[in-house]
Amino acid sequence: MSTPASNDHDARTFRRRRNRLVQALYDRGIQNQRVLDAIGAVPRHKFVEPAFRDRAYDDEALPIGLNQTISQPFTVAYQTSLLEVDPQDRILEVGTGSGYQAAVLCEMEARVFSIERHEELLERTRTLLDELGYAVRTRHGDGTNGWPAFAPFDGIVVTAAAPLLHQLREPNGIDGGRLVIPVGKSDGQTMTRVVRTGSGPDDYQREEFHNFRFVPLVEGDDSESE
Ligand code: SAH
Repeated sequence: MSTPASNDHDARTFRRRRNRLVQALYDRGIQNQRVLDAIGAVPRHKFVEPAFRDRAYDDEALPIGLNQTISQPFTVAYQTSLLEVDPQDRILEVGTGSGYQAAVLCEMEARVFSIERHEELLERTRTLLDELGYAVRTRHGDGTNGWPAFAPFDGIVVTAAAPLLHQLREPNGIDGGRLVIPVGKSDGQTMTRVVRTGSGPDDYQREEFHNFRFVPLVEGDDSESE
């Protein structure tokens, strides 16, 4: 049984660990203060399996049940930095998973749309996001084709390659929408950012960053394949 006093103690412990995680991410090169503040605000221990709570603020990917993992904080911070999220930006995430990345985007005051193919996982994540007050619009299904009904997006963040470029918004000043996506084979991918620079089919600019290793983006929803 946990008592109110032990809850307070837990909350303090988690807060202290979260601050240390933010410092560790800063030391590893994450300099975007809004991203660091968001990571410092999201209770990651609520997004992992209870057995792993004590490791929730280590910089590692962890099991969330149903054979899925929550991304490593560094990866989330890195992708979110590349996205360059401004308040009120409309962001599409493909692969809701635990909901952690979506929560980080909410803390940055983005309007978040997220698609997850695994129905049971999404239901659980929905409950958690509601409980924590994160207003994410979610959809169960295949994210490979994006979410045309809500396009255009200021940013799209994905776990593998997909035909999403035309859903990015056109520039309305300097730059257009941004897609942050790991591109490559299953044994390693290059984090790539594609920015829409005009309205034509070739009006995209591509930059490459560090290497990561993601789970594959699988086509179809889980009811079709599992
Ligand atoms: N962003 C998540 C981690 C994602 S793990 C977090 O913060 O926890 C990748 C997720 O993408 C898994 O949950 C997987 O089920 C989902 N996924 C894989 N292929 C997909 C597809 N085609 N459409 C939607 N979701 C997909």
